[in-house]
Amino acid sequence: MKNKLLVIFCILLLTNCQSQKLSFDGMAAFGWLEKQCEFGPRNPGSDGYNQCKKFLIDNLNDFADTVFTQSFSYTELKYNNTYDLTNIIAQFNTPSDQHILLGAHWDTRPWADMDPNPSNWSKPIIGANDGASGVAVLLELAKMFKAHPPPIDITIVFFDCEDMGVEGVPNSYAQGSKYFAENLPIEKPDYGIIVDMVGDAILEIPIERNSYRVAPELISILWDITEELNLSAFKNRLGYDVFDDHIPLWEIAGIPAIDLIDMNYPNTRINYWHTMNDTPNNCSPESLRQVGTLLTNYIYSLK
Ligand SMILES: [Zn+2]
Repeated sequence: MKNKLLVIFCILLLTNCQSQKLSFDGMAAFGWLEKQCEFGPRNPGSDGYNQCKKFLIDNLNDFADTVFTQSFSYTELKYNNTYDLTNIIAQFNTPSDQHILLGAHWDTRPWADMDPNPSNWSKPIIGANDGASGVAVLLELAKMFKAHPPPIDITIVFFDCEDMGVEGVPNSYAQGSKYFAENLPIEKPDYGIIVDMVGDAILEIPIERNSYRVAPELISILWDITEELNLSAFKNRLGYDVFDDHIPLWEIAGIPAIDLIDMNYPNTRINYWHTMNDTPNNCSPESLRQVGTLLTNYIYSLK
């Protein structure tokens, strides 16, 4: 009898362990988003930028095995000003033959040049969605990696200077990832996954076209997970072709990289992108939860 009970107990314990999945905390991620926005606009050279840089490095130091920065400078094309810039890199060194890079840009746009009001066109944006949302998801993942070391080697990169470009000149964007790809400071990862503009309260993430072109197998694995887990923000159709940090990673360093991005913020009729309306109240914890849940389930399914 005693042995029988013990066997039953062990079976229960095993089933419980197998079904126990890590859950991604959307509220906690939203807290990271709000915290970044409290620093104000985080365009290069601003006070908010300097405070946020320290905040990101301090927190990553708590979570990661190794944290280091990569400095570079860039002269933007609008006013010809030169800025000192910083990519922030955090490594979670699980010995593994698989290595994934997770990236987001931590800078925000210096100019609200899509704002309906022309007097805002030279003002910096808060960038709750465009900047803070991707960083928020990755900070919350970094916290999870500390508590539950990932089964593979992971590098998180917060890219600088993604958003100081001028309209119509794609190459003037994504300067941090360009410098990173030209001066790869880590062992080349197998894949890169960029998260950008993932906080929209009305989140719809189709498959970004360049991503599908360079890493169709990764897209297929991820979109299968979104269906399995009912992550309804993800749409199984091709969307825009976006120039983001994944492009230099692929074109310069040959890292197959994808971009999880929602360019309709909040929908196809209204646009908060690069406007003064890119604020926390237009973002939601649930949107961050869906993106974080996808990445959590993907990463912990790897060996
Ligand atoms: Zn932007």
